[in-house]
Amino acid sequence: MRCDPHALIDLGALRHNLGVARKAAPSSRILAVIKANAYGHGLPRVAQALHQADALGVARVSEGVRLRSQGIRQPIVVLEGCCGREELEAAAAQELQICIHAPEQLQLLQQTPLPRPVACWLKVDSGMHRLGYPPAEAAEAFRQLRECRNVQGLRLMTHLANADDRADPATDAQLDRFLPLLSGLKVEASIANSAGLLGWPQAQRDWVRPGLMLYGASPFLNSRADELGLRPVMTLRSRLIAVRRFAAGEPIGYGATWHCPEEMPIGVVAIGYGDGYPRHARPGAPVLLNGRRAPLVGRVSMDMITIDLRRHPEAAVGDEVTLWGEGLPAEEVAEHADTIPYQLFCGVTTRVELRERE
Ligand SMILES: *Cc1c(COP(=O)(O)O)cnc(C)c1O
Repeated sequence: MRCDPHALIDLGALRHNLGVARKAAPSSRILAVIKANAYGHGLPRVAQALHQADALGVARVSEGVRLRSQGIRQPIVVLEGCCGREELEAAAAQELQICIHAPEQLQLLQQTPLPRPVACWLKVDSGMHRLGYPPAEAAEAFRQLRECRNVQGLRLMTHLANADDRADPATDAQLDRFLPLLSGLKVEASIANSAGLLGWPQAQRDWVRPGLMLYGASPFLNSRADELGLRPVMTLRSRLIAVRRFAAGEPIGYGATWHCPEEMPIGVVAIGYGDGYPRHARPGAPVLLNGRRAPLVGRVSMDMITIDLRRHPEAAVGDEVTLWGEGLPAEEVAEHADTIPYQLFCGVTTRVELRERE
């Protein structure tokens, strides 16, 4: 038996979740977002399993170049676009589609001789105020892109800042700023990430850009994936490597921040922040031990965590422990660590082996 943590990757669940996205947005094409090593789930396997997606989305040119070197032939969209000539040339050479979000990028495109034209997405800032042209400047940028001989294929994109909260009026305000641009320009457009796709049908348009939902976590606050018909793709597992007993009042772990309220058994699990388990997880964060929950106690160490075994008298060294995934929603663990499932998934470190589920 090995006691290294591993993450089981269920590609059947991934394909199922892509189907959920298709069903929810039946008239849109799907740009499946696989940036950050497919949200920590591992490339190129995830990209290959998503061969039915209409395109793939990455944040950076280097990610797109790597996908091409791994033999991925689908359309790839670089969501941040290029930050210099070298990246632009690489994007053109590898047939990556690029976003144009600022005048510097537009000028670079106009001034760089390229072996072949590139497909572009003009990014409009409809209110998130991260990347994109202000709506009032979008029509002029669009005109210049259409005239640029390095451009072949031009689409429009914006990104939603508050779609995770279905009650927040900011999303409608963003739509009100973006949609009028489309009536003037005859062009394909994309607005929705996972939350936009599932929560705002009017945001679906020609292309949707789901990320998180494909990996089987809910993009909404206070909601769980199973309510949306999604199945978890990553199940993070490790094992119990010690079972100890301590007297009432004894401290557990670094800083002695937690004390046994009574004489009790404590389990030590081989996983820690060095593997990507969040250090800020609070006592009470659940793990699954032999199919039942046990709460975290004490601080998270680099390689280990400690858990309360009072309700697990049968627990023994070698027992399997699930940190999140099947049977234990990552959303719930994230709440106990003041973070979001996105960060849990992306944070899994390279020392955790990703294993494809049979
Ligand atoms: C990451 C990203 C997405 C995917 O967002 P999810 O919330 O994971 O669905 C979509 N569009 C852009 C521009 C992104 O950066």
